[in-house]
Amino acid sequence: MSKTLRFLHSMYYVLRALPFIGRRYECPICGWKFRRFLSAGIIRRRNARCPRCSSLERHRLVWLYLQRETDFLSGPKRFLHIAPEFCFTRVMRKMPHVDYVSVDRDSDLADYRMDIMDLRLESETFDCLLCMHVLEHVADDYRALCEMQRILKQGAWAIIAVPIDRARESTFEDPRATSGEARLKLFGQTDHVRIFGKDVAQRIERTGFEVTRVEYADRLSYLDRDKYGITGGEEFYYCKKNSS
Ligand SMILES: [Zn+2]
Repeated sequence: MSKTLRFLHSMYYVLRALPFIGRRYECPICGWKFRRFLSAGIIRRRNARCPRCSSLERHRLVWLYLQRETDFLSGPKRFLHIAPEFCFTRVMRKMPHVDYVSVDRDSDLADYRMDIMDLRLESETFDCLLCMHVLEHVADDYRALCEMQRILKQGAWAIIAVPIDRARESTFEDPRATSGEARLKLFGQTDHVRIFGKDVAQRIERTGFEVTRVEYADRLSYLDRDKYGITGGEEFYYCKKNSS
């Protein structure tokens, strides 16, 4: 995206946010305070989306985790953002210690157009990466995870989040479902190719990551959850590339 387009994009969100300014809630990513957040989701969730940076509950949760529980702020980091969300890109690009690189198959927000099953990036050159709500769209999630392993340095980490149906013991996929209509029927969305079940951690571990399931909302105080508009308890995975 050009600088002019980025500026106009940003201005749109500033204007959108102005009527919501208040003191009740705070977005930890953009730092703006509001009387309420916007609603979001196909099944509408009230008080979910930040009017300024468009962060959702899960983004604010991961941001707090990055800041409080990882070494993200502790020194220079080469950071790969897969399928970049606007709320993160606008702050991370400004962080002097972060060498920020983003990739996406289609989005103009990304620095490079790439398929995550075939990252045209040098091996072992990144300290950390973020990949949220992407793998449910990718034909071969094992191959994508292997690529993430490959580009991370030894001892580096990834934060990976996917929507999970916890009623399912194992992930459901059917490669015969290639049309949007078939995918909608089987996976609930025209661009999804699987429904992840409770075996997500094992699927990630197959590629050699050491995986920790993080239910970070449960570790936040009530006051933090309330102030930052974190209502859902969406889990994510902290995945470390073993240095052995
Ligand atoms: Zn925000």
